[in-house]
Amino acid sequence: MNPNKPIAQSVAIRGNKIVKVGTNQEINQLIGEDTRVISLDGKTVVPGLIDTHIHVADFGRCLLWLDLTSAESIKELQSLLKEKAKQTPTGKWIIGRGWNQNRFKEKRLPNVLDLNKAAPNNPVILYHGSAMICAVNSKALALAGVTEQTAVPSGGTIDKNPQTGELTGILRDSATSLVWQVVPEPTADELSEATALACQKIVEAGVTSVHWIVLSENELPIIQRLHAEGKLLIRVNVIVPDALLKETLGFQSTDSLMLRLGGVFIATDGYLDSKTAALLQPYSDDPNNNGKMLLTEQELMASVAQVLAVGLQPVIHAMGDKAIDMALNVIEQTSQRASGKAVRFRIEQAAVLNKELIKRLKMQNVVVSIQPKVIATEFAVWSATERLGIERARWLHPLKTLLKEGVKVAGGSDCPMEPLNPLLGMQEAVLREHFPEQRLSVEEALGMYTLDAAYCSGEEKVKGSIEAGKLADLTVLSDDPLVAKTNRIKNINIELTIINGKVVYSKH
Ligand SMILES: [Zn+2]
Repeated sequence: MNPNKPIAQSVAIRGNKIVKVGTNQEINQLIGEDTRVISLDGKTVVPGLIDTHIHVADFGRCLLWLDLTSAESIKELQSLLKEKAKQTPTGKWIIGRGWNQNRFKEKRLPNVLDLNKAAPNNPVILYHGSAMICAVNSKALALAGVTEQTAVPSGGTIDKNPQTGELTGILRDSATSLVWQVVPEPTADELSEATALACQKIVEAGVTSVHWIVLSENELPIIQRLHAEGKLLIRVNVIVPDALLKETLGFQSTDSLMLRLGGVFIATDGYLDSKTAALLQPYSDDPNNNGKMLLTEQELMASVAQVLAVGLQPVIHAMGDKAIDMALNVIEQTSQRASGKAVRFRIEQAAVLNKELIKRLKMQNVVVSIQPKVIATEFAVWSATERLGIERARWLHPLKTLLKEGVKVAGGSDCPMEPLNPLLGMQEAVLREHFPEQRLSVEEALGMYTLDAAYCSGEEKVKGSIEAGKLADLTVLSDDPLVAKTNRIKNINIELTIINGKVVYSKH
């Protein structure tokens, strides 16, 4: 990622910094008595990977749940549930996720009796992979007070046996909340433990820095606690929702390179999958719907001014072209007023673009932060082409065009909604199935997770490439992504993760 020296053999680290990059011969001269020498046998070293969009606390919470994504039959689901029940105190909730009846040998939904049999002493709620359907057992139904007589909430379904009228234990859409609402929140200790586990998983994925998008107030004390206990492991750039700006004023960090409050998330519209992203022209599959702006331009202006006043970065979520246009209006006016003082703006998603919007993004040096796996989902799981029409879909996440026009694009995972693996994200950007003219090269994709991700938070001078003077954050890969088969990039193993000059994860 250093254009002046794109490939090197060896790297020397002193303390937490890289001091020299060069040939083995050059670096060998720096080896002293106390030097720890790590020979990588020709493996590939890349700058420490950066995830610019991850919900770490939520990821942790999911790690506590029973993972059913691999279950290939109801029998297998039952044995996983039985195993989990053995480790869970009687009466405590068991939450699971990820089953899918299409993968089951039995080709049917799991039912209340299946679950009762495997876990008779615990209330159980198991979410389908889509999170829109859940299967529950009798204990869960009883605690939620759901019976055959319960009124069906609008926009939901309570499945019943067509012959007997008995509950099957399957709840759909809004009806899932009938049970979910009685599942107790995890305790502070449980949450903190789960989040520490998430940090460990992140390091194992080769990620050295994250932009932690905070969703709830109770994450802030957890971040502080883990930082104080040395369990954060990764560098964390905290991004809080604008509603929590006040709560963050007392936020403390003893080492701003490891933990800092970086940005404030301001949502201007919703999402394409729920047709709430704000569009200039109506949705092609819903001609009376343009989506919805969540703020007026004046409100966004005020919000941005507030964020800048406390020295933080505005992280503006704008998905539809109408929302992006408004965000750019505000950015243009703000930078005019700031005259000379460079503010680095960032738009989250910037999904539906056009030529003119891209020019304006470039003019204002706005970083576009995207999650390539989410893009793949938009095209594959529900059809973005139908929703937007082919002409607009062509301009949905035009990553190659953005890079060609000189717009910086940073990559993230949106974990736990999508998998954490940054190499999978790179592969998605490289392989992109729909509108293949927007495919990135492997170098460009790597740039999204390293140098451009560092630029996104204004840290390109201290990280994002392997060069003397930068922080010693390195990720060692089992194989070179530049020569790997493009559909195998995601399978490359993480061998070592080095943060601040220290090995924080080693596969062997
Ligand atoms: Zn997200």
